[in-house]
Amino acid sequence: MPDIEVPVLIVGGSLVGMSTAMLLGHHGIRARVVEHHRGTAIHPRAAMITQRTMEVLRTVGIEQIVMQKSDEQFVQDGAIMAVETLAGKELTYFIANLNEGVRDVSPSARIFITQSLLEPLLKQRAEALGADLRFATEMISFVENRDGVTAKIRHRDTGQEETVRARYMIAADGAHSNIRDLLGIRMLGHGVFSKSITIYFRGDVSRLLRGRSLSVMYVVNPALSGFFRIEKPFTSGFLVVHWLGNPNNPVTDVSNGLTNERALEYLRCGLGDDSVPVEIENIMHWDATADTAEHFQRGRIFLAGDAAHVMPPSGGFGGNTGVQDAHNIAWKLAMVLKGQAGPDLLATYDAERRPAAAFTVEQAYSRYVLRSAPYLKSDNMQAIANDLNIEFGYVYDSRGIIKERGNRARVEREGGSGGGNAAAPPNENPRDSKGRPGTRAPHLWIERDGRQISTLDLFDQNFTLLAGREAEGWCHSARSAATRLGIGIDIHRIGADNLSDPTATFLEAYGISSTGAVLVRPDGFVAWRAKTGEAASAGEISDALSSVLCREVNRRSA
Ligand SMILES: Cc1cc2nc3c(=O)[nH]c(=O)nc-3n(C[C@H](O)[C@H](O)[C@H](O)COP(=O)(O)OP(=O)(O)OC[C@H]3O[C@@H](n4cnc5c(N)ncnc54)[C@H](O)[C@@H]3O)c2cc1C
Repeated sequence: MPDIEVPVLIVGGSLVGMSTAMLLGHHGIRARVVEHHRGTAIHPRAAMITQRTMEVLRTVGIEQIVMQKSDEQFVQDGAIMAVETLAGKELTYFIANLNEGVRDVSPSARIFITQSLLEPLLKQRAEALGADLRFATEMISFVENRDGVTAKIRHRDTGQEETVRARYMIAADGAHSNIRDLLGIRMLGHGVFSKSITIYFRGDVSRLLRGRSLSVMYVVNPALSGFFRIEKPFTSGFLVVHWLGNPNNPVTDVSNGLTNERALEYLRCGLGDDSVPVEIENIMHWDATADTAEHFQRGRIFLAGDAAHVMPPSGGFGGNTGVQDAHNIAWKLAMVLKGQAGPDLLATYDAERRPAAAFTVEQAYSRYVLRSAPYLKSDNMQAIANDLNIEFGYVYDSRGIIKERGNRARVEREGGSGGGNAAAPPNENPRDSKGRPGTRAPHLWIERDGRQISTLDLFDQNFTLLAGREAEGWCHSARSAATRLGIGIDIHRIGADNLSDPTATFLEAYGISSTGAVLVRPDGFVAWRAKTGEAASAGEISDALSSVLCREVNRRSA
């Protein structure tokens, strides 16, 4: 007999496990999280948060507080660039201003906030939404059978053990996932290409910044390659070191045999000014890797975050990709657990997230090679895609989407050349998606009762029908279909009722006429679209919903 039964057990309560618990809570599912550490992150680690992740945080109501904390910690809209040393010559700017030219695609901005500051905000929200978080607690074994997963949990301090029975388990247990290993799931990709270190330091480096607004400073000089990130008021930060010595024959094991004295030498070499007093606070050792798990699901267990994909920090995509995993699986688990969707919906997690993650891993690798390790350049590397394609532009293709015929995504290849022949899976600039099924529903500013909101603010726990102003047919049909299927649906006509379209761009942005409609999933991806009202019937939309929710199609006349 288990000591406790829960709908979902999450192993690992760091960035991704915590996000999953928060998003499950948002969908009314109270997850149990077990985390080995005694509290949230103590090291800064990830900091670059993409617009898409900020959109997810906006959905659960913490975007503003996250932005406020970010502003206390980092300069906003800084550059991502490369230098010989922080004090010395500038080499190139990869991104001159973090948010330049991207604000139109999202209501949210890219920001920097460290994991040590972000995780407590996620924790607070997850708990408010009902998550049951257990720190200093580890999962020591598990057995899976037809109906669920039984896990043995041990408290690290008391040694007390309990058995938890869960309908589903999420492995958010990081890059060295023990669950992944026990399931026999292999990681595929480039393997380890550097034994890197992160040197956390204190010291006033403001003089070396020379008033420049910088978010990430890559360092490439004859002695080392890595990158700096500095926090306000510019008296602390870190230097990552990827390799040392001759770039044609580099020493890629920076970690082995490292002493504090050597680390201080590397730091001074990156700063390029020995007169600045600095002191080392901590050193972290980690493997730079670019791999994706061969499966994201085995039975009732799902891999998420670094357990499913590991990538070099170049681009700042690792943690963000994990948050998107969490966002994708949370609503699916919730609808299956509530009996609103068939269990096959869960298989769409692997079908959707694995190609998106594999693409991101390759893009992070290409950026690593281009920015930090040109000696790894090869002909079959993926060409660099626009950052927006990585953040928003991946295209889902699974049973959870009703595809339109003859509408393949345009694969973009742009930006600095990373060499690159390897084909990327479908991805596109989010400005080109135009409400096509499988893509993220576009953002545009509209007004509700005269107050500006984003179209994205209309998506919440339910499916949402966004319709043209003359699409009463689809609205009526959607209401009947949802009642028939026993699910909630939010229905909005843009340009009618209390929602106005001041720029008159909604129909074009979503690729429909004034009688057409799109069905948006709770994760903000378009599931189905009718460009006009010709076929409007409850049977049509009921079939679409049944198919996306992996329920048996049980069509009755409209
Ligand atoms: C220097 C650096 C900079 C980075 N910068 C960025 C960035 O700017 N943006 C970005 O998006 N990403 C960045 N990343 C990547 C990012 O840090 C990771 O992708 C992210 O932390 C992964 O989160 P996770 O929750 O999947 O895994 P982890 O953070 O590794 O968490 C896994 C957790 O599982 C727990 N655990 C493991 N096994 C058990 C068990 N059996 N029982 C209980 N608990 C268990 C562990 O204690 C751990 O807390 C960076 C990484 C590095 C190294």
